[in-house]
Amino acid sequence: MEVINTIAALKLLLQPRKLAKQKIALVPTMGALHKGHVSLIKIAQQNADIVVCSIFVNPTQFTDPKDLEKYPRPLEHDIEMLQAAGCDYVFMPSVQEMYPAPEEWHIDLGNAEFLLEGEFRKGHYQGVTQIVKKLFDAVDPDLAFFGQKDFQQVLMIRNMVAYFGLDLQIISCPIIREDDGLAMSSRNIHLSAADRQNALVLSRALQYVQDNFSAGNINDLLEKAHRMINETEGVQLDYFTIADTETLLPEQQKGVKKLVALVAAKVGETRLIDNMILN
Ligand code: AMP
Repeated sequence: MEVINTIAALKLLLQPRKLAKQKIALVPTMGALHKGHVSLIKIAQQNADIVVCSIFVNPTQFTDPKDLEKYPRPLEHDIEMLQAAGCDYVFMPSVQEMYPAPEEWHIDLGNAEFLLEGEFRKGHYQGVTQIVKKLFDAVDPDLAFFGQKDFQQVLMIRNMVAYFGLDLQIISCPIIREDDGLAMSSRNIHLSAADRQNALVLSRALQYVQDNFSAGNINDLLEKAHRMINETEGVQLDYFTIADTETLLPEQQKGVKKLVALVAAKVGETRLIDNMILN
């Protein structure tokens, strides 16, 4: 496995692979890797010849400077994990490498940009799509792998790919959970023992809604999920919604549309998100 820090070095390394018509996969991450990230690497390996994993804590997608500052960066551990997973290249650029000059970025991501996470983290998806476009330009992958864990993010990236007419495939991969149901996240290390326990209500509420979806009506399911979360100490709910997977607009009726339940909440000082597809 090679660790590369510059776009020029990365392009040089990948060029002969492209000429040999090898399929290149990109797995973008912000590091602090866990089994969820490793699962993306594994799925990428099954679908491509070469897997590039990027580790870059992208400043433009953080709305809270404190969140950016305290984002975990265990780089040696990350490199060991990627080595063990059999990743081919790790791209770990500096902020200067990715943003050599001040830059304006604003593209039309559609109305869903402003819903859910977009409402609580203004401008977040502009920053996300800005860095992902730069990573796509640097790697020129045939496929890129993202986690369903960040459901809205996958949608925004698909919209960015459509906006620029990029020729690559975006693959959404299943959410990897701890044995007790908590969705794995780099932010989980900030949870105290009590927070860790309280955080379980998020996956439990989602699971309740998924288990009862065919029998229950949407308003009753939402009411129950809200109650479960609001009754849990130390958990402050931002949203729990049942939405159309394409528009992310809330849905009151069951019908032909594919629906997803999405939740975001602050558990202690840590903001967590999770979701489950319902039909
Ligand atoms: P992050 O480092 O948090 O930006 O995540 C990098 C990629 O890993 C994103 O596509 C995430 O959606 C994905 N990811 C994060 N957590 C999980 C998880 N628990 N299961 C599967 N994928 C995940």
